[in-house]
Amino acid sequence: MKEEYIIGIDIGGTHFRIGAVTGAHHVKCFRKVKADTVLVTDDVLADLKRYLADYMSLPELKGNIRAIAIGFPATVDRARKVVLQAPNLSYMENLPVVDYLQEHLGIPVFIERDVCMTLFYDMHTYQIPECEILAGCYFGTGIGNAICINGRPLLGRDGAAGELGHIAVPGSQEKCGCGLVGCMENLAGGKYLSRLCREVYTHTEIGDIFTEHGEEQLLRDFVDRIAITVAAEINILNPDYMIVGGGVINMKDFPKDLLVKKIHEHTRKPYPEQSLNLLLAEDEEMKSVIGAAPVSYTHLTLPTT
Ligand SMILES: [Zn+2]
Repeated sequence: MKEEYIIGIDIGGTHFRIGAVTGAHHVKCFRKVKADTVLVTDDVLADLKRYLADYMSLPELKGNIRAIAIGFPATVDRARKVVLQAPNLSYMENLPVVDYLQEHLGIPVFIERDVCMTLFYDMHTYQIPECEILAGCYFGTGIGNAICINGRPLLGRDGAAGELGHIAVPGSQEKCGCGLVGCMENLAGGKYLSRLCREVYTHTEIGDIFTEHGEEQLLRDFVDRIAITVAAEINILNPDYMIVGGGVINMKDFPKDLLVKKIHEHTRKPYPEQSLNLLLAEDEEMKSVIGAAPVSYTHLTLPTT
């Protein structure tokens, strides 16, 4: 029998990652392409369609593609058909991605918040057993948050559950890409580190920031804000497992021990602190591509191995 694939795509601000994922989570034909080489006109959907049609016609894949699953760094409507708003990508507003691509490509298309795909990947990779509540917080450029209840992503009334990065920090006047002022993700995400390098540590490359300045108060406070964000989620949900990941916590010399200590400090005693299952996830370039497969299986009910 021919192997079938799910095409997984991770839409990022600067790069798109795409791959053909098997039921056993192997990836074929992985590509990382610059977003501006795909989006070449004002018509985002037409550009995406053209790129996908080219990819689907690769000789190794042709005729064996079961579905397409796309992860967006954006809020997505409850029906998982329309991309609503992306804090960092202004061209991604109110895009009817699913209807458009299904009509033009003639194949099932699923969309999800990219962070849900990342959480599905980690669930599989770290062999997290079925449980009632699994939560993930990912600290990259911004803060990604996904919550799974009994194996399914928590959607919320409008599809907009899990926007932990947009809780307000008292006193902060910083404008966020979401339209609010003072959001945590501007103070506990990679954007803050970029700002520190621009304004304070002007001779430091961002990749060396923890190596050169990790002991200084500015960065210890930054780690504390990450911990406060994670602990807020733990205190609300009392999850079976709490996964923390993303590019920031996987930077060179990031003080993971301090982060774990601070998360425990900010978590309510005796519970949920005493029984906390905290897992720090490593970064993997293909996370959201591979995690796209389970999102599709949920809809297609394919066997997963
Ligand atoms: Zn915000």
